[in-house]
Amino acid sequence: MGFRPYIYKLAREIGLSGSVSNTSEGVRVEIQGSSQQHKTFDARLIPEAPPLSKIISTTSEDLPPTEDGVFTIIASYDDISVSTLISPDVKVCKDCYHELFDPKNRRFHYPFINCTNCGPRYTIIENIPYDRPYTSMKHFPLCLECKAEYEDPENRRFHAQPNACQICGPQVWLCDGGGTTIETENPIQGAIDFLAQGHILAIKGLGGFHLAVDAKNKNSIARLRKSKGRDEKPFALMVRNMIVARRLVHLTQNEAASLDSVQAPIVLAKKQVDLDLAPNLAPGNDRLGIMLPYTPLHHLLFSGSLDILVMTSANFSEEPICIDNAEALVRLSGMADHFLLHNRDIYLRSDDSVVIEMDGKLRPIRRSRGFAPAPIFLKEKGPSVLAVGAELKNIIAISSEDKVFLSQHIGDLENLEAFDFFQMTIEHLQCIFKIKPELIMHDLHPGYLSTKWATEQALPVHGVQHHHAHLASCMLENGLNKPVIGIIMDGTGFGSDGTIWGGEFLIGDLSGFQREAYFDPMPLPGGEAAIKAPWRIGLSYLHQTFGSKLPDIPSLRHRDTGSIIQMIEQSINSPLTSSCGRLFDAVAALSGGRQEIRYEAQAAIEFMQLANNDLGSDYSIFEVIEKNGQSIISISNIIVQLVSRINSGKSVTALSQWFHHSLIKTFVALAIILHKKSNINEIVLSGGVFQNHLLFEGLVQALISENFQVFTHHQVPTNDGGIALGQVAIGQEILNYPHG
Ligand code: ZN
Ligand code: ZN
Ligand code: FE
Repeated sequence: MGFRPYIYKLAREIGLSGSVSNTSEGVRVEIQGSSQQHKTFDARLIPEAPPLSKIISTTSEDLPPTEDGVFTIIASYDDISVSTLISPDVKVCKDCYHELFDPKNRRFHYPFINCTNCGPRYTIIENIPYDRPYTSMKHFPLCLECKAEYEDPENRRFHAQPNACQICGPQVWLCDGGGTTIETENPIQGAIDFLAQGHILAIKGLGGFHLAVDAKNKNSIARLRKSKGRDEKPFALMVRNMIVARRLVHLTQNEAASLDSVQAPIVLAKKQVDLDLAPNLAPGNDRLGIMLPYTPLHHLLFSGSLDILVMTSANFSEEPICIDNAEALVRLSGMADHFLLHNRDIYLRSDDSVVIEMDGKLRPIRRSRGFAPAPIFLKEKGPSVLAVGAELKNIIAISSEDKVFLSQHIGDLENLEAFDFFQMTIEHLQCIFKIKPELIMHDLHPGYLSTKWATEQALPVHGVQHHHAHLASCMLENGLNKPVIGIIMDGTGFGSDGTIWGGEFLIGDLSGFQREAYFDPMPLPGGEAAIKAPWRIGLSYLHQTFGSKLPDIPSLRHRDTGSIIQMIEQSINSPLTSSCGRLFDAVAALSGGRQEIRYEAQAAIEFMQLANNDLGSDYSIFEVIEKNGQSIISISNIIVQLVSRINSGKSVTALSQWFHHSLIKTFVALAIILHKKSNINEIVLSGGVFQNHLLFEGLVQALISENFQVFTHHQVPTNDGGIALGQVAIGQEILNYPHG
């Protein structure tokens, strides 16, 4: 990130001669001067480095003196380590921001202003080397002024590949819903006016299209929900600046820093009370997803009267975000009233990233734009492995030497568009990082499209149990290599025994694992269909506990329970699961919470929020039954205790507090049992259920107070977006120690 110009300026300032170049090992600097000049260079090199650069390590050696000359930049791309050259996309920098609003600047109000410190990167790179002809800027030959900046090592735009201006660069224009261009002097002002009038706009951004509406307009939001097929899931907001953000949400120091960071993710922060926002924006949710403008185009949209916009990925339901103009006009027709388009192509789509602060640390929920393809660093160099992840929230990973490159968020591989995008991303990452993997890792689930793809390739493949991958992911992120206790809680993962796992205590390391404890497997009547109707799961768990003498539960009174019970009794499409996510669904539904859901994990999320961030004082330690050397957490015991509380008239808030508190106490009790058995003191937490901050924070604190060392995710998501990293770790272990 502007590193060679930085060295160039520094060396010249100090009066050193020599050169700077990119090599396969990284940046190489040769300097010649007095020992005092050398010392000055050494002292300033790291402290003054550009804000976006990240120096992993430095080494130096003495060289014989050469003839003195001026300091130069060697601009050769031969033998360049490509990984040093591909940066994530970066939010518009302060310098560019000031130029954008400076009427005397030649780029005043130019929506594509950028420099070496900011702008698009990963999303516009078609091939390597990272040079303008290999990006989607190839259609825009530099004008003389831009070219002069591009070639001047003293300039902020030296070798800034996306450099452009009003004269030579990309342009925006406005279209109606049918794709007809609307003639206007100022398309961005036109877009602002439409938004203010309550229209839905499709806006082409950095990594894809957004659908935008005024966040104060209830009717527009209702229309957007209808056309997007999104009934209740909260919408993300983009707000004018930090002042507006603080008006909407309470921000901790970490959250504020993240909001304002170069990655500019969506931050899930606590709503302020008494907000005058549309009620259908984030119903039943005490948090709002907020981001700040990250491209010059966004800043211009907020230069009028608007200060809060809904900015949601432009797609139908879980399909990939739209990136191409022609494609957008077709796929989004009927969703958007108007289109704000531009002609800088997006080569690789990248959704907005999402982070949340839990237990004092920021954690990615979706690691995508601004983060991908920045690598996770390994402690040692390892073989190259491609990992294709799981099915939902798919992210793929590929390793090279001491780095694991993670792709942007690919999405749910259930639909064909996402599967195409998945294949394209695999090819693209191998190409831009020049990696030839030796092994492909996939999930054990035979039905996943990622598994099918992997097994069709000409390379050796290996299946990884889903929860083992979760455990390995958290181990790798935290640099662990000795056996750990893994508390892995999620919705669904194919188990080694063919049942569906999801509430597991494992002891293991990268080479293997034992399943030590789990929730008593329960039938899921209707399989996937049950996940959308938590009341069915509640009924099933109730039936398993009480048999035909079902207790009277208010939430089930008006349900036709007969057909579901028949399914369970005759084992028709009722797979068994130990899932913690399903247990949450069952308990939430029986307690009087959400009976049917409109988006993933809605029942659990709303049930958690009903606890009002409090664990209360009432808890149970659930019964654990020893069976064949394994500990089974009794679901019947949980349901019996729940029903007695429901019958004694406890509120849903009290029930939620009791359940969260009891899970924490039970998990700690099990951890102590496993510690006695194994003498292991290190615990990793992974799985999507740990996005539940009440459970997560309570459990971390409770384990620490029992003197456990607790390791959690902070670089990759705890949900299935982190699976590929764990698969890579296990794959490297297999290649390093082929005979176990
Ligand atoms: Zn800039
Ligand atoms: Zn120009
Ligand atoms: Fe999972």
